[in-house]
Amino acid sequence: MEKKEFKTESKRILDMMINSVYTHREIFLREIISNASDALDKLAYRALTDDSVGLSRDDLKIRITLNKEARTITVSDNGIGMSAEDLENNLGTIAQSGSFRFKNGLDGEKPQDIDIIGQFGVGFYSAFMVSDTVTVISRAFGSDQAFCWESDGSDGYTVSPAVRDGHGTDIVMHIKEDTEDDKYGEFLEFYRIRELIKKYSDYIRFAIVMDVPKSRAVETGKTDENGNKKTEYESYTEEETVNSRVPIWKRSREDVSDEECVKFFKEKYYEHEDPAALIRADVQGLVSYKALLFIPSVAPFGYYSREFEKGLSLYSNGVMIIDKCADLLPDHFRFVKGIVDCDDLSLNISRELLQHDRQLKAIATSLEKRIKRELKKLLENDREKYEKFFSAFGLQLKYGVVNEFGMHKDLLSDLLLFHSMNKGGPVTLSEYVAAMPEDQKHVYYACGETVERITSNPCAERIRDKGFDLLCLTDDVDQFVVEMLGKFEEKEIKSADADVDELISSEEKEKAEEAQKNSGDVLSFVKETLGGLVSDVRISKKLKSHPVCLTTDEGGITIEMEKYFATLPGDNKPKADRILELNAAHSSFAALSAAFESDKATAEKYAKILYSQALLIAGLPLDNPTEYADLVCGLMK
Ligand code: ADP
Repeated sequence: MEKKEFKTESKRILDMMINSVYTHREIFLREIISNASDALDKLAYRALTDDSVGLSRDDLKIRITLNKEARTITVSDNGIGMSAEDLENNLGTIAQSGSFRFKNGLDGEKPQDIDIIGQFGVGFYSAFMVSDTVTVISRAFGSDQAFCWESDGSDGYTVSPAVRDGHGTDIVMHIKEDTEDDKYGEFLEFYRIRELIKKYSDYIRFAIVMDVPKSRAVETGKTDENGNKKTEYESYTEEETVNSRVPIWKRSREDVSDEECVKFFKEKYYEHEDPAALIRADVQGLVSYKALLFIPSVAPFGYYSREFEKGLSLYSNGVMIIDKCADLLPDHFRFVKGIVDCDDLSLNISRELLQHDRQLKAIATSLEKRIKRELKKLLENDREKYEKFFSAFGLQLKYGVVNEFGMHKDLLSDLLLFHSMNKGGPVTLSEYVAAMPEDQKHVYYACGETVERITSNPCAERIRDKGFDLLCLTDDVDQFVVEMLGKFEEKEIKSADADVDELISSEEKEKAEEAQKNSGDVLSFVKETLGGLVSDVRISKKLKSHPVCLTTDEGGITIEMEKYFATLPGDNKPKADRILELNAAHSSFAALSAAFESDKATAEKYAKILYSQALLIAGLPLDNPTEYADLVCGLMK
């Protein structure tokens, strides 16, 4: 029999397949099954238009047979089949096939660099990733003659007449021998093959049947020494459909309840808790797609680490194209899990194409809006659930506000929750604004390690005295969030220690300015004593009962930012320009002033003590705790 050469481009693809990296090999089965499914589709379509076909969709199926002795896996279908000419044209060259388009995008790349194999359709030739010989026996629908195509991949193929009962195709793959590193034999194991079908081809619309190994008890008629009947177990096989066929997200709402979707979520993602929300989308329009998305209520282990991979599974025509398609989800919603199914996508498009695919972008944009809407709905209708969600993923939303230069802040700002001093629990920014008394113009916040620390902070006092509310921010990123937001509903968001007119009465202001004028010498003395630790020493306009505080000028690096930077690795971390504010009405200031007049050594000690106390209140470490302790104890005479 004459051996025919593969066309040049086919040879290249073949080389690539034969040398493919291990992790990608398993997708050969997905490729061969989707070809079989296409062949069944073609015949089903023919049956629709031609009554003489006399077949219904239920008669069409795919059968997978494993033969360990012969080391073969056979994928059979009773679809449209191929004539000798078809075998020649379709399998001898890559001509019009998806593999050809795929290859075109790859010129110049080394085969082993190609990650795309794992994710995209590479067609019939992928059988050579696991087989040393592939035999295709096919009989075209309407013909009496079958043909056999055979190839060992490297030096061409043969086509010869053959025998087959009925129309359809058998792809017989002779699995390569195991080597030290590669155990090809796994593809002869029933459980491994069933796992691959579940993973990639579970939702092929036609039944995929296999002989499923089982065991049953048989009566032996004998009894054991105690007189009990002896039973033995025998193995047998039974043909069963191993795929689920119609995916849950393709079924209508009447057909599948929300409870069933939740069950699916728990099984598929190994989740123990119900999701916070469920999104079922069936979109018809410029791009049509179906989606089943879940917003989890707890963060998975390692969620905030680099290892966590975001993405939705992307399906087309019942075949999984990408397990975690990152392009479908913006980073700020990376906690969302689920599936998108779009029949318009081709299985054979390359990754580059997919990335720029307008359809995919349109789907991503519409999903982002859906997720936002769903979260808003949850926030409004089920506060308890939303708060639980927020404690798991609120940090992610906050990062979303800060990242990409604040591009997404408008989308996310009304989803944020912050602890309210007055309410003693979380509030949204709009709830805060709605509760503002008429004379309050700005939204106030203060940062700190804990809510308790913040509310006992000198700045909280003046807010409380005015009858305003204070947002207590305890996450590292919070300070950056409020800076990025700047405003909410036209209200400026201000730090509680800012010198804001509405927080200071004109009388207080006058008094402080007067004291500032009269205490110039004392203030310069304190600044000098502290020798560069502070950029300025001032009389405070905001302190009421407390003696001191540390502040910064607006627009610069704040104390909270400095603390955050301190936690990052590296040297030369940005520092705040610290300003020490003293309360002129406090007895400590009177003591300082008196000492400044009469006893400079004591005045120096007081200056150091006051600065150290300001550090402690701000939650900053003391430069020299021993010195501070000695200074304070020195007063106890
Ligand atoms: P693609 O499926 O992207 O076209 P393949 O290399 O996988 O590329 O297959 C090439 C062609 O071979 C298919 O387009 C189809 O015409 C034919 N073919 C493959 N498998 C079968 C099958 N089981 N039954 C009928 N035709 C098949």
